Amino acid sequence: MIKTSIADNIAEVQANIASACDRAGRSPDDVTLVAVSKRQPLDRVIAAVQAGLVHLGENRIDEAEMRRERIMAAGGGYLVWHMLGRVEPRRVRYIPRLFQRFHALDSVRLAERLSDLIVAGDLPPFPVWVEVNITGEASKAGFDAHGWAHSATVFAELRTAIGRISHLRGLDLRGLMTLAPYVADMEQTRPVFAGLRHLRDALTDSLGVPLPDLSMGMTNDYPVAIEEGATTVRVGRAIFGERD
Ligand SMILES: *Cc1c(COP(=O)(O)O)cnc(C)c1O
Repeated sequence: MIKTSIADNIAEVQANIASACDRAGRSPDDVTLVAVSKRQPLDRVIAAVQAGLVHLGENRIDEAEMRRERIMAAGGGYLVWHMLGRVEPRRVRYIPRLFQRFHALDSVRLAERLSDLIVAGDLPPFPVWVEVNITGEASKAGFDAHGWAHSATVFAELRTAIGRISHLRGLDLRGLMTLAPYVADMEQTRPVFAGLRHLRDALTDSLGVPLPDLSMGMTNDYPVAIEEGATTVRVGRAIFGERD
């Protein structure tokens, strides 16, 4: 794939973001596009950075560590690295070393470890999203939120966990993150995204914690996610093409 086509892809995704915002009466300035570069050839990632993308998303520590320097050197400018994948608590030190945002916080233990590290290093509170599993699919990570609207137990457990995370001094709790199921018709993902927004509203009401940012929407479904309130979309294939 040549450089201009990456730039064209980015322009197309940005136009789709703008029209989704238009339909929802929102401003495109309120939606951050994270280009998901995982398992994409280096030249494509460099082309995207040279085309002006600033936010890059990875889901593996090892891959991010291996390529980061070269991408930074090629980009020349300021990049924001987002970690989207699961991190084992024993590898937590890599989060602030390699990234500026973490979208896949899936346990209180990991949250405490990350917070301790940030506080010990005298660093500014680290921006995090709590990942929740709305659909109950076994393949998906995150805190169990399946059926939360009808289950007092599920909601209470989430409430307790997010309450504890919100008090950690080393973390800047931005909001919630989820993944919709892979379906042919993106319209079918709408209840999942609306569900994340309703869950956020319920947690905010109950805890008094703002949770302003919703990280939701990928190549298959980001326009619907934006209509339902996404503030960060994580788009890989629509920018870079299919992964290896
Ligand atoms: C891979 C991935 C994406 C991007 O997926 P695409 O289908 O390539 O847009 C977004 N979020 C997470 C958590 C991912 O792992």
